Amino acid sequence: MRGWYRPVLSSLIAAAVVAVVPAHAGNTNEQPVTLLVIADDLITLDPALPSAEALVACGEEIIAVGTADAMRRLIGPDTLVIEAPGRVVVPGFNDAHLHPTPLYDEMSPWGTIDCSPAAAATIDRVVERLRQKAAITPAGQWVRGSGYQDTKLGRHPTRADLDRVSTEHPVLIGHSSGHVAACNSLALALARIDADSDDPKGGRFDRDAAGVPTGVLRESAVGIVTSAGPERPAPETATWIEAIHKRFDEYLAAGITSIQHAGTSLRTVARYRRALAARRQVRISAMLREGEIDELERLISDHGRGDDWLQLGGIKAFHGNSLSGQTCWLSQPYADRPDYFGIPPSRSRESLVRLVGRIHDAGLQACIHANGDREIAMVLDAYGEVLARSPRPDHRHRIEHASVCPDELVARIKELGVVLAPHSYVWEHGDKMEAYGAWRWDFMHPNGSALAAGIVIAGNSDSPVSAAVPLLRIQSMVTRRSAEGKVYGAAQRIGVLDALRAWTIGSAYASHQDHRKGTLTPGKLADFVVLAHDPRTTPADSLRTIGVELTVVGGHVVYRKEGSTLPAPIDR
Ligand SMILES: [Zn+2]
Repeated sequence: MRGWYRPVLSSLIAAAVVAVVPAHAGNTNEQPVTLLVIADDLITLDPALPSAEALVACGEEIIAVGTADAMRRLIGPDTLVIEAPGRVVVPGFNDAHLHPTPLYDEMSPWGTIDCSPAAAATIDRVVERLRQKAAITPAGQWVRGSGYQDTKLGRHPTRADLDRVSTEHPVLIGHSSGHVAACNSLALALARIDADSDDPKGGRFDRDAAGVPTGVLRESAVGIVTSAGPERPAPETATWIEAIHKRFDEYLAAGITSIQHAGTSLRTVARYRRALAARRQVRISAMLREGEIDELERLISDHGRGDDWLQLGGIKAFHGNSLSGQTCWLSQPYADRPDYFGIPPSRSRESLVRLVGRIHDAGLQACIHANGDREIAMVLDAYGEVLARSPRPDHRHRIEHASVCPDELVARIKELGVVLAPHSYVWEHGDKMEAYGAWRWDFMHPNGSALAAGIVIAGNSDSPVSAAVPLLRIQSMVTRRSAEGKVYGAAQRIGVLDALRAWTIGSAYASHQDHRKGTLTPGKLADFVVLAHDPRTTPADSLRTIGVELTVVGGHVVYRKEGSTLPAPIDR
């Protein structure tokens, strides 16, 4: 099987047709204008020309930005003209860290039951939804759910709750953090977990007063239980592609034109290539799992990194645990448990330095997940050690999340030239910050202190951890207010333009693609969004309600809001 994907990727690269246009070029006869967009304002985010009335594109790229009159003079008989009075245009949003999941029917054999608060507000409702799936699932097969929030349900569901779903099916539901799960007694039995079982390295089985596992699994304990159960049915590739297209349609409707998949495989990359061949929706940058580094290195040396639609990015690795799952490793205890500091990372300092060195020496970008201050400090130590022995000015190594990040760590991040992809999920998960104590809130999710220090931040949803809805995420960064109305860490609020920059040029920088996207600039890709209202004049607590009216990727309309009078999407 080794190398099987090579023809797939090389044909992708061969098929790439990218017009080469000098920056700030005007129009010439060789560049027929295919698209003109005129709006009240184009928030270009390009310091050379921050505001404009119009832009024109030739094929995939923007070729000029300026006044409506000047741009009109460039069009030809075949130019698609989009006039959007009263609206504003911003660069397309780029979600710098997310985990795209195909959108399957819940009741299909590979479907997972949605246990998020919107679908199931109480434990009884979670149980009832899972029971419906159990009723159509052969005994012995998994019944799986995802997205439950302990803070919204009042507690984690336990084996006793999930035994009410079934005692003939193993049942397991994932927490919204992706780092914690709850399972029933049969799932524990299949994994031979009981009161005598030790906690695994890097994980924990929650236990009752008598030491009996409750069914709540943390970090590496989740994998022990899932891998002991039956194999899950997997759909055909065609079904997968259809379901990923549905997910990508959701992204387009939210104004997302580029995504960065945090931690994927070359097998999935090959599937993305097929999904793109069938329908070009969003641009994809893939951060591969650390286990794929050898293959990735070979692939890049043979075929390069891909193109504007599908790029092989860096290596995503974990060093540490979860903020919203309350497993990240802290230097001071959790607020509600004076003897609990979280779960230490399973990797030693030495092996972390080896891993970072391996990634760095391959010329790749390291994207390391760390949340707790003790985890972040270890990652910075590793970056520092590797960069000291072999400096590389434009490495752009990243820390994913960096959630509990006091000023002294921010200063080291700046010094090392590290890029941050912090959470922007106070709206959904502000309540998870209660466990960290109010004294920490002003240095959690450090968007504000990172910007003040001159660190590049990349906007991201970590979807499905929080919704892949950039305007909601931007609201969360600007207000730090939860859905319940409480502000967590006002000191880390940032301005709306800074939040827009994080979600566009910041994310593009974080994947080494800022020369191609992130601002509305001649020579860059014509990826942009038409918004119904100007985010700069919209009240901060209403930013999420600004409608995305039109999404354009590579000069093509790919989404139009229902009821809009702007031009409709065209298949290509
Ligand atoms: Zn993630």
